Amino acid sequence: MQLPDIEHWRLGLAQPLLIGGPCGVESPTQINAIAQALAGSGVGMLRGGIWKPRTRPGSFQGIGSEALTWLKDAGISVGMPVMVEVASPFHVGEALTAGIDVLWIGARTTVNPFLVQEICEALRGVDIPVMVKNPVHPDLELWIGALERLDQAGIHRLAAIHRGFHTYEKSRYRNAPLWSLPLELKRRIPTLPILNDPSHICGDRALIAGVAQTAIDLGFNGLMVEVHPDPANALSDPEQQLTPDGFRTLIAGLVFRKPTTDDAVVRHVLDDLRKRIDRIDDELLELLAVRMQAVREIGEYKREHNMTIFQLERWNEILKTRPATGAGLDLNKQFVVRLMELIHEDSIHQQSQILYRQPTSDGKDAAPTS
Ligand code: PEP
Ligand code: MN
Repeated sequence: MQLPDIEHWRLGLAQPLLIGGPCGVESPTQINAIAQALAGSGVGMLRGGIWKPRTRPGSFQGIGSEALTWLKDAGISVGMPVMVEVASPFHVGEALTAGIDVLWIGARTTVNPFLVQEICEALRGVDIPVMVKNPVHPDLELWIGALERLDQAGIHRLAAIHRGFHTYEKSRYRNAPLWSLPLELKRRIPTLPILNDPSHICGDRALIAGVAQTAIDLGFNGLMVEVHPDPANALSDPEQQLTPDGFRTLIAGLVFRKPTTDDAVVRHVLDDLRKRIDRIDDELLELLAVRMQAVREIGEYKREHNMTIFQLERWNEILKTRPATGAGLDLNKQFVVRLMELIHEDSIHQQSQILYRQPTSDGKDAAPTS
């Protein structure tokens, strides 16, 4: 996918792009108050939900088409482009008629290729920037697929929004950030701008500043933050919205770091530190190879004595002792567990290759396949 560079995409806005606005547009008074309060704060774009995807019926579903002009007028009054979520060709038609500047596709829509394609057809021939939120569940291909569909429909001013992922594991976040996914998206499509939505990741305004700073530190191209004049009484997402002042404070507290430096000494020191990492990685891999050799020897022994590969007690013991050893070495417990699981998975694979190896016609064992 060939995307224009972010500089061409940016609508003349300074980087990184800061977007603020309510979860849902509720009234002209509400959206005007937000627009006025954010003017001059560095916020470059006003967001507002017009049609809200809600988990259960009976919740506030958004005002609908009528609120499009409220949002657009509020944007005009402060000279800010405005953006809304679209989830159907009808939404697209209404948003385009109202002169909305940018569209975004929500997490619940990105999961559905039929719907994304319908939206693409409605957008064919229209030159408007579109941002695509990640799908609800951690599926990078589905996220890329939605971007590709838009690209193929002639929409080239594209950006992605990372809003976190639903996982069954309990976490302090409403949607786990799983940072490796958006970073892999950046690796796969380097020219695609990626913004972060700390509001929907956190689900709790107290956590937003930390996630926003992490996103900036990881080189994200902007932030989309939910802002409401009276968050506690917001008709949707009351726990995660910031007041305009809260957003201004967050912006003022952000530390913007550079990806590189012109300072030759700093570059030299960094190079040295990286060489150290390179050497450690080599040693790690050599050690892993030695461990795998031992695993294969055990595999041969199990085969000889007709024993099963997987031994639950042994695995439980590893899962207990390794994180404990790791903790003594200041290593994160979850990291050690995941690492051991990965090593164990390949050890099982290696040993099954040995166990299921067929003897050749001369009675010797054939070499394992792959
Ligand atoms: C939103 O931004 O208001 C929204 C509904 O977000 P998401 O699609 O990320 O849940
Ligand atoms: Mn919301």
